[in-house]
Amino acid sequence: MSYDPSNIFAKILKGELPCHKVYEDDTALVMMDIFPQSRGHTLIIAKSASRNLIDADPAALSAVMPLVQRVAQAVKAATGADGIRLAQFNEAPAGQTVFHLHFHIIPAYEGTALAPHGGGKADDGELAALAKDIAAKF
Ligand code: 5GP
Repeated sequence: MSYDPSNIFAKILKGELPCHKVYEDDTALVMMDIFPQSRGHTLIIAKSASRNLIDADPAALSAVMPLVQRVAQAVKAATGADGIRLAQFNEAPAGQTVFHLHFHIIPAYEGTALAPHGGGKADDGELAALAKDIAAKF
């Protein structure tokens, strides 16, 4: 399947839809997931146009991975999480719902199970505060 430029993340990248932005550079936009699996669930949206890992340009991938690490470090520092899960889904049978390359940084807290993928919407005020706290750790 080919990349569809009308996907929701492409619209957010173009500024046509809002997001709780944490950070942005030439390679990616970092924002809060509005249906978080845990407190501090953050997304790294690659700026290169590909559906996912399978069709991604290797050069774009290698450019974005250091940022994925930086986000993991910042999210862990800002939330006090006990662990961090890195997730990335490729095509619908594997759990992908938005077909634009992105990575999930999902904080894990000792004794607390993660919410299901694509669960309830978080409070906007809480997401805005988390975005600010994570940005401060960059
Ligand atoms: P996927 O299932 O494609 O790996 O992940 C898509 C993620 O995007 C999901 O975790 C979902 O909660 C999140 N999401 C869906 N729509 C929006 C949106 O409009 N804004 C933000 N910030 N996240 C979204």
